Amino acid sequence: MSSRFRLFWLATASAVCLGTPAVAQDTVKIGELNSYKAQPAFLEPYKRGWELAVEEINAKGGVIGKKLEVISRDDGATPGDAVRAANELVTREGTNIIAGTFLSHIGLAVTEFAGKEKVFFLAAEPLTDKITWQNGNKYTFRLRPSTYMQVAMLVPHALEAKKKSARVKSDPELGATQLDDLVREFKSIVQRETGKPFPTDPQTQLRLAIEAVFGSWFGKRAVDYRNTFKISNDLGTACSIVTMVFGNMGEDSGTGVAFTRDPNTGQKVLYGEYLTNAQGEDVVAGLRTPSPISQMKSALPKAYAEFETIAKRLEKHYRDAQDLEFTIERGKLYMLQTRSAKRTAAAAVKIATDMVREGLITKDEAIRRVDPMQVEQLLLPRFDQKEVDRARGAGRFLAKGLNASPGAATGRAVFDADRAVSLKGQKELVVLVRPETSPDDFHGMVAATGILTARGGSTSHAAVVARGLGLPCVAGVAALDIDLVKREMRVDGKLVREGDQISIDGTTGEVFAGELPTIEPKFREEKELIELLSWADQKRRLGVWVNADTPGECKLARELGAEGVGLARTEHMFRQADRLPIVQDMIMADDLAGRQKALDKLLPFQQGDFREMYEAMDGLPVVIRLIDPPLHEFLREYADLNVDIAVARASGDDGPEIEKKARIYRRLQQLHEDNPMLGLRGCRLLLVYPEILEMQIRAILGAAIDVSERGIKAKPEIMMPLVGTMGELDRLQEQVMQVAETVFTERGKRVAFKFGTMIEIPRACLIADEIAGKAEFFSFGTNDLTQTVLGISRDDAQKSFLTRYVEQKIIPADPFQVLDREGVGAMMKIAIDRGRKTRKDLKIGICGEHGGDPSSIEFCHQVGLTYVSPSTYRVPVARLAAAQAALAGAGQKDR
Ligand code: PEP
Ligand code: MG
Repeated sequence: MSSRFRLFWLATASAVCLGTPAVAQDTVKIGELNSYKAQPAFLEPYKRGWELAVEEINAKGGVIGKKLEVISRDDGATPGDAVRAANELVTREGTNIIAGTFLSHIGLAVTEFAGKEKVFFLAAEPLTDKITWQNGNKYTFRLRPSTYMQVAMLVPHALEAKKKSARVKSDPELGATQLDDLVREFKSIVQRETGKPFPTDPQTQLRLAIEAVFGSWFGKRAVDYRNTFKISNDLGTACSIVTMVFGNMGEDSGTGVAFTRDPNTGQKVLYGEYLTNAQGEDVVAGLRTPSPISQMKSALPKAYAEFETIAKRLEKHYRDAQDLEFTIERGKLYMLQTRSAKRTAAAAVKIATDMVREGLITKDEAIRRVDPMQVEQLLLPRFDQKEVDRARGAGRFLAKGLNASPGAATGRAVFDADRAVSLKGQKELVVLVRPETSPDDFHGMVAATGILTARGGSTSHAAVVARGLGLPCVAGVAALDIDLVKREMRVDGKLVREGDQISIDGTTGEVFAGELPTIEPKFREEKELIELLSWADQKRRLGVWVNADTPGECKLARELGAEGVGLARTEHMFRQADRLPIVQDMIMADDLAGRQKALDKLLPFQQGDFREMYEAMDGLPVVIRLIDPPLHEFLREYADLNVDIAVARASGDDGPEIEKKARIYRRLQQLHEDNPMLGLRGCRLLLVYPEILEMQIRAILGAAIDVSERGIKAKPEIMMPLVGTMGELDRLQEQVMQVAETVFTERGKRVAFKFGTMIEIPRACLIADEIAGKAEFFSFGTNDLTQTVLGISRDDAQKSFLTRYVEQKIIPADPFQVLDREGVGAMMKIAIDRGRKTRKDLKIGICGEHGGDPSSIEFCHQVGLTYVSPSTYRVPVARLAAAQAALAGAGQKDR
C-alpha cells in the first residue's frame, strides 16, 4: 500500500473506531467532494486515486470488516454549493465521513457544516486544516496533500535538502554527482506521487506543459487576481512555446528583470536586477538576492550595452515604460519578454508628464495613461517624522529593508494570507509579514494595509504586486527571523507576535514596532500631478465639486481643485462633542418650547460653521443640505440603556439618574421604527418639525450675510433631502422663502441663494419635470437612489448577501460603489430629461459615493450632468476621470 493511502486508511479507520454516529450499515460510506468542474486538473488523478485506494482496501477485507464505498460530488467551487453537496451526502446518501480537497474558503464552510452535523471531515487542504485545528474543530482530520501539491512541495524541498547536505547556498554550487542524485530523486518523487514515471518523451512533456499552462487559468491565485482586477473569467489564456535558453551556464551567463524607468519614482534610469549563473525563477522567487542592473555594466559590458540599446528601442516603439526580462547564455543576450511596466502612482504621473516633454506622447495620451484611482495613492498618508524619531529613540526601530512600494502602514502583524483576510473581515488593519510572497498570498496582500518580507528584491513578487495594488511594501529585510509555525518573528533580539502592532514605511524601507501616527501628504508639492491635472481640467466638461462638512475639509478640497461644495451634510456638524448633547435635548423635548430652546442653542454653532465654510469657498457655490438622518441616530450611545436600567433597578437603584435614563429609553422606544431609512428622515423630518428647518435656514442665510459684510462672496444653495412628492416640495419651498424673508427683514440685508433638491427616490425621478418647476438645481443622492431603486438596504446588504453576490458574479459590482447604469442610471436619465424639459439650463450634480468612482463619473459625463461631488481625497481622482471620460467621448483613442 502506498504511503499516501496508508495515511488515508488510518484516518478512516480511526474515524470509524472513534464512534462517529453512523447509521448501521454494511459499508462505510465516504462522501468525497472536490472542485472537479472548476479545476479539471484534479479530475483524473484524484478520482483514480480514490478508486485505487478503495479497491485496495476492499480487496483486503475492508475497514473493520466493512466494505468501503466512495460517493463523489462536485463542490461547485463555492462554499454554498459545497455545503449543499455535503448535506446531500450525509442526509440522502447516508455517508459517515466527508473528505475532499478544497480551496480554503470552501473547506472552511464544509468544516463548519461538519462541526454542526457531527460528521467526520477529512480536509486535504493544508490551510483549511491549519485554520480548523486552530478553531478547535475536532471533527477535522488531515489527509495528505494532493498529488499536485505534493510534487510541487516535495521537489523544491528535495533541492533545499540537497543544498543543505552539500553545505552550499545556491543551485549552481551543486556538483555534477549531486545534481545527478537530485535528478534521480526528482524522478522517484514523480513516480511515487503520480504513479507514473517522469515522461521522457519530448512530445508528452510539451503536452503536459501546455496543459499545465491552460490549467493554471483555473487556479485559485489566477481566480483571485481576475476578481481583484475585474478581468473577465471567460477570456481564457494563451500559451507561447519558445526555445529554452540557459542563464545558469557559468559566470558569463545570467538572467535579470529591468524597467526602462524607475517604477517607484518614474525617474528615467534603467532600473532592475540581475543574477549571474541563474535562471529567471531565481530572480523573481527572491531566494537569492540579486545585484543592481548597473553592476552588469562592468560584469558583462557587451551584453549590458546591447541590453541598454534594446531597452531604449522597445520603450520608443511602445511609447511607454517597459518591464523587460532577459537571459544571457554564454555572453549572448536573449530578450524573453517586454510588457508595459507596472508602476506606482508617483511613477505613473512622472513618466506620463516626462514623456510629453520628451515628445513621445501627447497630453491627451498622458491623461489616459494614469489610472485615476492611482492618483489617490499620491495623497497617501505618511509617518510623522517627529514620531518616527521618537520611536527610534525609544528603541522601537526594528530593521531596514528595501523601500519596495511607497506609503506608510500601521497594523497588526500577521504571518499568513488567510489570517490577513479573516482579520480584515473583523475590520482590523493588518501588515502581512512573509519570508517572501508568492502568488498564493495574493488574497492576503489585497486584504493587508502593508507588506513586509524577509527576502526578495525590488522586482520580487511582493514588490511588484504591492506597487500594483498601491500598498506600501518593505521587502528583503534580511534581519527578520520569521517562524511561520509559531506565528512570530524575531528581529535583532526583539520578538513580534501575531497580532502585535508594527509600522512599515515603504518610502524609506524602515520597520518599527508599535503604532506610528501618520500625517497627510502635501498636494502642493506634487508638481507633476498638478501639471497633469491642469491638462485634465482643460479637457473635462464635468465640474468637480466636493462633499465636505467642515471648514477644514473645504480648505483642503479647494487646494485639491474642488470648484464648489456639492454636499454639506449638516447633521455631521450636530455630531460634534459640544453639539450632540444639545441635539439630544432637542430630541428629548416634549413640546415645541423645549425643542425651540435647544435649537436656539444650536443656531450659533451652525451659523459659525457656515461662516467658516463660506470663507474657505469664497466665490464658489456651497450646497447645504438640511438635516437628513432618522433622529435615533443621535441617540446611538443609549442603545443598551434598557440593560443599565434593568441592572440598576434590580439592585434597588431608583435615583434621578435612572429616572433620566428611563425617560430617554421611553423616547427611544417612541422613535423606534422597524425600517428607519424609509421612515421619519429627510424632508419628512423637516415637515414634522418645521422649527428645525427654520433654525437651519436662519443659520445658512445669517452666515451668508455675516461674511458678505466682510467682503466674502457666499453662494449658498439650500438643498432638501429625500423629496418624493410635489406636496413636500411645495411646502418646503414656502417655508424656506418665509424664513428667508424674515431673516432679510431682521438683518436689513438680502443675499442671493438657490433652492434645490436631492433626487434620491424613484418617484422624484418620474416627476422631475414638476420638481424642476420649483427646484433650481438637482443633486442625485445615488446612495439612497441605489437603495430605493434596487430595494437593497445600504446599511445591511453588504454583510448579509451583497459581498457574496459580487463574488459569485450574481451582479457585476457592488452597486453602492459602482453606479448601476441599467437601473439607477436609467432612472437618472429619466430625471435629467424630464427636469431639463422644464428648466433647460437645470444644474444637475451627483453627491452619492459614486461621484468619486471613475466608471460612474464616465456615466455622469455621458448623461450630461453638470458636476460630480466626491469626498475630499477623490477630488483629483474625479478631475482626471472626468477628463478621461471627455476624451473617450471625443472618440480619441491611443495609437
Ligand atoms: C445619497 O443618498 O446619495 C446622499 C448623498 O445622501 P446620504 O448619503 O447622506 O444619505
Ligand atoms: Mg441620501
